[in-house]
Amino acid sequence: MKKNILVIPGDGIGQEVTQWGKAALAQIAKNYGHEFTFDEALMGHAAIEVTGNPLPEETLEKARKSDAILFGAIGHAMYDNDPSLKVRPEQGLLKIRKELGLYANLRPILLFDELLEASSIKAHILKGTDILFFRELTGDVYFGEKKRSEDRNTASDLMIYHRYEVERIAHKAFQAAQQRSKRLCSVDKANVLESSRLWRETVQEIAKQYPDVETEHMFIDNAAMQLIKNPKKFDVVLTANLFGDILTDEASQIAGSMGMLASASVGDGVGFYEPIHGSAHDIAGKNLANPLASILSAALMLEISFGLPEEAKALVSAVDQALKDGYRTGDIADQNTEASKILGTQEMGQLVLKYLAQ
Ligand code: NAD
Repeated sequence: MKKNILVIPGDGIGQEVTQWGKAALAQIAKNYGHEFTFDEALMGHAAIEVTGNPLPEETLEKARKSDAILFGAIGHAMYDNDPSLKVRPEQGLLKIRKELGLYANLRPILLFDELLEASSIKAHILKGTDILFFRELTGDVYFGEKKRSEDRNTASDLMIYHRYEVERIAHKAFQAAQQRSKRLCSVDKANVLESSRLWRETVQEIAKQYPDVETEHMFIDNAAMQLIKNPKKFDVVLTANLFGDILTDEASQIAGSMGMLASASVGDGVGFYEPIHGSAHDIAGKNLANPLASILSAALMLEISFGLPEEAKALVSAVDQALKDGYRTGDIADQNTEASKILGTQEMGQLVLKYLAQ
């Protein structure tokens, strides 16, 4: 199979981890006789520094021409501490999602048995958890009108949804539920928010087309609590942009660390694959970042964009093997981890490649 992959490392640890997702894809191509070609492009602070634009036109053009995109993360401390800066890294990410029509963000909460102890939740509550989140990506408060009063003392962000936006992601989530355990939980705040009432009404309508899927509706506050109390309760979770942003970070603790969770953003065109974490300034440039989420993002690309489940499984197995052999990066190590098995970004990346090559 011939594929053209665009790599956008972005900022901070994005640069450090993405090289391993890319290297894993190259090794898979070698193992299975595929021809993957790689191009690279700028986004975020790295792009602002060079071009003044967080999403240069050249990056967008390359993205449109590619078969899939492997992304790292964007962000820099200078923007976090100065909200008044007008040109910001996250504008690049929001814009590319909008331009490529990436309306569904899929976040599998894949739990490796070896990491049960790395989570802050008790192992017996976690064991057997397997959740697939569908987070809507192009609507909600992120894109609604933003206002600030003249005296700067009042502000608002419009939470807006259109029926078609809910319908298209609901179809994707119901179809996934049909392939899994046929259970779907839609999360909203329909007791308070009008946009959530539209969300619930639309999901109820779509549900009629999938009578084999058992559909439940849950309020976001309850869902946030249930996710910790009894994560096995959930299978496919469908939710809006803001609620999904928060719930999936919460769910990352089920998997032990942000450094373990991959995501796929898809629409009707090219797919965009990225770890769920940000650019992590606190550990950037120190060889401390966990590269496994980037490698698992590459696995999602193989499965979803290229339809190569066997190759995807080989990547997940190589990660699993590294964990089974006791190797950890700092974020997933616990008191039982031997000091000699705590690896840096580079060493963990190399180890997974070694297992892949075997
Ligand atoms: P973050 O995800 O960067 O980091 C949160 C915590 O998790 C930090 O303590 C960090 O050290 C740790 N962590 C994250 N990824 C890790 C990894 N691979 N290995 C080990 N530890 C890891 O979130 P934040 O600190 O809230 O934000 C930092 C910057 O990232 C900000 O500028 C923010 O805007 C940006 N951000 C970008 C994205 C994105 O590009 N998709 C997402 C979230 C935040």
